[in-house]
Amino acid sequence: MDSSSASQQEFDYLFKLLMIGDSGVGKSSLLLSFTSDNFEELSPTIGVDFKVKYVDVGGKKLKLAIWDTVYDVTRRDTFTNLSDVWAKEIDLYSTNQDCIKLLVGNKVDKESERVVTKKEGINFAREYGCLFIECSAKTRVNVQQCFEELVLKILDTPSLLAEGSKGLKKNIFKQKPPEADAAASGCC
Ligand code: GDP
Ligand code: MG
Repeated sequence: MDSSSASQQEFDYLFKLLMIGDSGVGKSSLLLSFTSDNFEELSPTIGVDFKVKYVDVGGKKLKLAIWDTVYDVTRRDTFTNLSDVWAKEIDLYSTNQDCIKLLVGNKVDKESERVVTKKEGINFAREYGCLFIECSAKTRVNVQQCFEELVLKILDTPSLLAEGSKGLKKNIFKQKPPEADAAASGCC
């Protein structure tokens, strides 16, 4: 994934990627790890983090508004909440049947504190029809791959490339020109 050559004014598609998961699992850190060059110690966010990144993937210029489903491999409650809470939220609120779900197990750098095995993650992903990856926002292991897998799968799903994304792109241009590192916060 080449993020340097993508123009910040033009893009073929806008992808909206939603990050969900318990507070403290590392959603903001993953986002920062992907969109900027350093890992900062963050206090857990109560609310929603949102960042924009422009990338070139598969010959297309993409504007990514990020992202997806995260748990902390060192905290079992964040994993069980995926089925108890977050999977239901996705079904309730997703507007496209084909929406791509990527299950992310974060903080694999804390291997000695791991309580959720990789196998459990794989099994969960299979049951809920998600892609799966384990990563570390801190060491950056698999951070790029998270986004790349997600984006390639979206590019491979015709219904997600249909009018919805193009229509939104026009609306967003009308509202406000895109910024290099636009960030917004809300509360949930
Ligand atoms: P959020 O509430 O899901 O957005 O979680 P944050 O991104 O705010 O992270 C919560 C805490 O976990 C912070 O202290 C981060 O520094 C820490 N953290 C996040 N990702 C990692 C990681 O991959 N490894 C380690 N060791 N700590 C992490
Ligand atoms: Mg956060």
